[in-house]
Amino acid sequence: MYYDYHMHCDFSLDSKTPMEDMINKSIDLNLKEICFTDHVDYGIINNGIEEDHIIDYNEYRRKIEYFQSKYKDKISIKRGIEMGLQSHTLQNCKNDIEKNDFDFVIASIHTMNKSDLIKREFYKDKSQFEAYRQYYINLYNIIKEFKSYCVLGHLDIVKRYGDLNNIIDDKVFADEIDEILKMAIYDGKGIEINTSSFRYKLPDLTPSSYILKRYKELGGEILTTGSDSHNPSQIAYGFKEIYPRLKDMGYKYICTFDKMNPNFIKL
Ligand SMILES: [Zn+2]
Ligand SMILES: [Zn+2]
Repeated sequence: MYYDYHMHCDFSLDSKTPMEDMINKSIDLNLKEICFTDHVDYGIINNGIEEDHIIDYNEYRRKIEYFQSKYKDKISIKRGIEMGLQSHTLQNCKNDIEKNDFDFVIASIHTMNKSDLIKREFYKDKSQFEAYRQYYINLYNIIKEFKSYCVLGHLDIVKRYGDLNNIIDDKVFADEIDEILKMAIYDGKGIEINTSSFRYKLPDLTPSSYILKRYKELGGEILTTGSDSHNPSQIAYGFKEIYPRLKDMGYKYICTFDKMNPNFIKL
């Protein structure tokens, strides 16, 4: 039984899929539970202008509640959000989370200092080493301040949009990675395994097996599974493959969330 805890629909700017299509495909795949985690990113630079990519929270809630009731005998549906965090937008993100009683919040970095990772602007003026270093320090500084989340999304996303032929070994950033994981664990926060790594044909999992193992070794217990799907064909993609790998790493549970509280499901 799979639980897809990272899923987008047309509430996100980068998805055109109606919410109900994602639900129907999840039912076809026999998923036990899904959580919509549509994008909210404050302070995105678009053609030189700073924009806030937010969603209509009331409509989002209304629609999810409608489908929760319509499909209650077939699948459980949770209401989450993926917050793209930047150091100067944290208060806005925090306010939105406090007002909307989400089941689940993913804390993600998509943009740093108004410079986009996904469009690769962030990498332009720096070496791969410097990009990784700045990314990890930025993530650490953000979670030092920002605690309104459940799991860290695609923790090593800096690799995905950098030079894939020159991925730097995690050991180089072992101290930075440890500090991030220790803080998350201390705060009672989790990480997600994001199976988009298979779609992007990355050589490792996201986050890497090193990071997944290290989180566990340091005492971390909270792990969610997410496909980061933006259309039905990507739902629960690669889940079959990750379960045995997580077991090999010593994971015994994965988590679901209810009003920001984790439930532990035996793997
Ligand atoms: Zn993301
Ligand atoms: Zn996402």
